[in-house]
Amino acid sequence: MPQLDEKLDPIYREVLRRNPAEEEFHQAVREVLDSLGPVVAKNPHYTDAAVIERICEPERQIIFRVPWVDDSGAVQINRGFRVEFNSALGPYKGGLRFHPSVNLGIIKFLGFEQIFKNSLTGMPIGGAKGGSDFDPKGKSELEIMRFCQSFMTELYRHLGEYTDVPAGDIGVGGREIGYLFGQYKRITNRYESGVLTGKGLTWGGSQVRREATGYGAVFFVDEMLRTRHQSLEGKRVVVSGSGNVAIYAIEKVRQLGGTVVACSDSDGYVVDEKGIDLELLKEIKEVRRERVSDYAEARGHDAHYVQGGRVWDVPCDVALPSATQNELNAHDAKTLVSNGCVVVAEGANMPTTPDAVQVLQEAGVLFAPGKAANAGGVATSALEMQQNASRDSWSFEHTEERLSEIMRGIHDRCAETAEEYGVPGNYVVGANIAGFIQVADAMLALGVI
Ligand code: GLU
Repeated sequence: MPQLDEKLDPIYREVLRRNPAEEEFHQAVREVLDSLGPVVAKNPHYTDAAVIERICEPERQIIFRVPWVDDSGAVQINRGFRVEFNSALGPYKGGLRFHPSVNLGIIKFLGFEQIFKNSLTGMPIGGAKGGSDFDPKGKSELEIMRFCQSFMTELYRHLGEYTDVPAGDIGVGGREIGYLFGQYKRITNRYESGVLTGKGLTWGGSQVRREATGYGAVFFVDEMLRTRHQSLEGKRVVVSGSGNVAIYAIEKVRQLGGTVVACSDSDGYVVDEKGIDLELLKEIKEVRRERVSDYAEARGHDAHYVQGGRVWDVPCDVALPSATQNELNAHDAKTLVSNGCVVVAEGANMPTTPDAVQVLQEAGVLFAPGKAANAGGVATSALEMQQNASRDSWSFEHTEERLSEIMRGIHDRCAETAEEYGVPGNYVVGANIAGFIQVADAMLALGVI
């Protein structure tokens, strides 16, 4: 890892001291600070006013007990989190993750990333993240509902359309948002549509929100390829994961003329040389809530399933890690490079390890960090908030057009900032600096709060 700037090094060391054993949070902070050396050299007022120290310290962290009763009548206890990280640009905004791996460090890394991602969208939204170590896998419909109701019974007091607006993430989709919104509405006796995003279309949701993260990541890839006078037409693409981000990334790749030949879940991956059958994948994952192995079985001879293994072994031109953090390591990156991969864009949050990013960048692969490439989800959440505030609802075409403009804007902002700071084509530095400056300037204007 390169040496940190001398003004930033003590700040990073203080983050390590104050937040012991939160590795993913350290990683996310380090990655941003690594980009900021030239910014603080040019603008000493950021360090004078302790803006960076303040940005690394969440404004508020809420941890709570979530008791619920399972189908056998036994009492279960989970832990709930909401880290309200930064509200300089707008109300706290970011998803909820329900997964057994969730702990405070994971939520802090996600909340920290969200600050810069949300800033890059150009929309008025602050950064937050929340969730629980609840494992939705294998739970009945009624258990999911009871859990969501219990979770919201504590969280509602911290939320509001001008205060904090959660959405989904891993393990939280339209079904969970429905139960959460229902409980919020019941407790508060308010139909406050703008308090959650990712809602269903009949109860305040936005067109394209479901598709937005995956579509947005592919729009971003399209823009990156354009800088090399290429397009997705005829490209072989590998996507990791098979959840909401992956499914709609696959859909958009197909619409733009590429072929997705593999996707995965935590048990293994499937290779389908003719292209993933999207209708079947949606049926298996969204309706039946089954596994990628069930997809392979249903698809028959056309597909083959590999238990365990690395999806990155499948040769491709474009790789879209869209499952979870740190799922693409330096070894995988080397495999991708030697197979001729030209673009890697993060559909998930921080799926690429820092040494893997280095391998890709040194090999000249175009690399888009999640805070830029997957910002389409939260950007469309902001469009949902806009529609809720004006009691309006837009067409699919109009909303998708807005999303594509936003992604183009994020791409150009990252590319121009990288250029301005002397590292053309480095989207990591571009995203970190462009995202940071907007938040930092707002924080300076708002005083020491
Ligand atoms: N969880 C998504 C993300 O990582 C979406 C957040 C939102 O829509 O608020 O950006």
